[in-house]
Amino acid sequence: MAPSPHRMQCRASALLDCAQMSGASPSRSPSFATRVATLPEGQVAVVGLPWDEQSSFMRGAALAPPRIRDVLHDGSANLCTEHGADLSSTPGWTDVGDVALTSGPAVLAEIDTAVAALLERGARVLSLGGDHAVSYPVLRAYARAHPGLTVLHIDAHPDLYDEFEGSRLSHACPFARVMEENLASRLVQVGIRTMTPHQREQAVRFGVEVVEMRHWTPARRLELGDAPVYLSLDLDALDPACAPGVSHHEPGGFTTREVLGILHAIGPALIGADIVEFNPQRDTGTTTAMLAAKFYREIVGRLLADRRRSAR
Ligand code: MN
Ligand code: MN
Repeated sequence: MAPSPHRMQCRASALLDCAQMSGASPSRSPSFATRVATLPEGQVAVVGLPWDEQSSFMRGAALAPPRIRDVLHDGSANLCTEHGADLSSTPGWTDVGDVALTSGPAVLAEIDTAVAALLERGARVLSLGGDHAVSYPVLRAYARAHPGLTVLHIDAHPDLYDEFEGSRLSHACPFARVMEENLASRLVQVGIRTMTPHQREQAVRFGVEVVEMRHWTPARRLELGDAPVYLSLDLDALDPACAPGVSHHEPGGFTTREVLGILHAIGPALIGADIVEFNPQRDTGTTTAMLAAKFYREIVGRLLADRRRSAR
């Protein structure tokens, strides 16, 4: 299949790697492998996974990582988290740029290998999708390094299809794969408002703990237990009014404040996260890009705080 103009655009942005990572020159940035090999031990690492081939409705999420970094560093906001950590002067975290991905099922191994390499350096990883299909290979790598973790999945959709439109790797399927392969000891889903009968059966079959949006109240606290938590944040969990830049507009979702509240209230240690499904081609101005950048700051801040706590 000839590469689409969109695909070529993605490749061009991936080749640029991360223009803003820790002061590195974008035109002279070393290869991903070199950046991982020279990463100090025990960092919080941000990595871009520009892959949207498994999107069922609309491509564009592969353009997200460079767009998020652009607005993060555009001068309109500082790099402070709400808890007061100034990421511009806080050591211990690095944006290692985008993984150069090919296409087709080979991408699974490429993502798994890249994340595993970061975890072997003792890193705690924030991955920037891409569509939600990236979470399955990320969690394969995570489960080897951190068995028994709890996955907190914030999404309008349960993403539990056994297969969707002929693909078992579809962005509608990652959590069926995660549960089949026992990559998480618990899967807690919040924001869900698109359950089909098939996915209800899947949720029962896999013992998924689903907090449907219709039952959500802002005062609700999630019982996450003691095991370390991996957070998978699909931006379509938010109401389209807060996050228009996603491929699937599903009304009736979270406010930005509610998702920040869920993130801040995670009790156990947060050891990894992804932000997925931001589609810059659907954004209005910088609304959703800045939303993703806000979660980037807050998640990096939280990963750093939990990293320091575990090191004591
Ligand atoms: Mn999803
Ligand atoms: Mn979704």
